[in-house]
Amino acid sequence: MYIGIDVGGTSIKAGIVDYKGNILYKDTIGTRASLGYEAVREDMITLINKAIQYSKQENYRIDSIGIGVPGIADPQSDNVIYCTNLNWKDAPLGKDLKSRYGLPIYIDNDATVAAIAESVKGITKGSENSVFLTLGTGVGGGIIINRKVYSGTHNKGSEIGHMIIGENFYDCNCGNNGCLETFASATAIVRYTQKLIDEGFLDEEFMEALRSKDGVMDTKFIFDMAKKNNELALKSIDRMVKYLSIGIGNFINILNPDIIAIGGGVSKAGKYLIEKINREFINYVIFKEGSTTEIKLSQLGNDAGIIGAALISEYK
Ligand SMILES: [Zn+2]
Repeated sequence: MYIGIDVGGTSIKAGIVDYKGNILYKDTIGTRASLGYEAVREDMITLINKAIQYSKQENYRIDSIGIGVPGIADPQSDNVIYCTNLNWKDAPLGKDLKSRYGLPIYIDNDATVAAIAESVKGITKGSENSVFLTLGTGVGGGIIINRKVYSGTHNKGSEIGHMIIGENFYDCNCGNNGCLETFASATAIVRYTQKLIDEGFLDEEFMEALRSKDGVMDTKFIFDMAKKNNELALKSIDRMVKYLSIGIGNFINILNPDIIAIGGGVSKAGKYLIEKINREFINYVIFKEGSTTEIKLSQLGNDAGIIGAALISEYK
């Protein structure tokens, strides 16, 4: 059995998970992010203590503790190098927990952890090689090769959101121009739609619908309008699909995976998005004949963080 912890901006979730990815115990607590690293670590310790107590009652043997964080961890020291949302920098999380519990501690990025969860219990289960893309505020993901997570020599690879796809009208947070994240994230879709409006793309139908939504333009609204064949929304969504498909084509040409899974908030557009990608990505694939890579929606919801974190050790 493993303990898995999913540290998010609003809540910390913990669970006891078996090697098949079944959750046997679950608990959650709010994230006191504004109080800094020590406060969040103490809350994690409270959750872990309760989980260990439960495991003793049930005679479960805990082999390791895995933690998914919204940031970057150093696998050598198990320090969290940084977590922007939580205001952590060089937080000695691995060291602090190891000295307390004497168990192996594994820490990884939350998108990598979600890729592991999908591979254990979700859409990429049984697949040797897969790519998981999460399209949210940014773009993240994980690459699994021969059923192991691929993160590169110094754990600094697999920065999927920063694969450069083409020239774009605004720079990425990382400082480069043209990153996938600036074409295919929720932020990117809204920014490009707003740019079209600012440049005078007149679409009364779109503006009327937007007014009835109190002017709140999010990706759900833009997708809903595109599904009704609205011209402005379609222009924005089709551009996003084009660049996302270029990224997908790159993955297929380089890695030849069985499945590319799409998750995150933008994936709520569902079948509509997948069908559009399926019409487009093949244009960017070198070996079109016999190309078998499937593009699918991710399957796991809220529990993915706990399951994936618990099983990091199995995928290292
Ligand atoms: Zn970037």
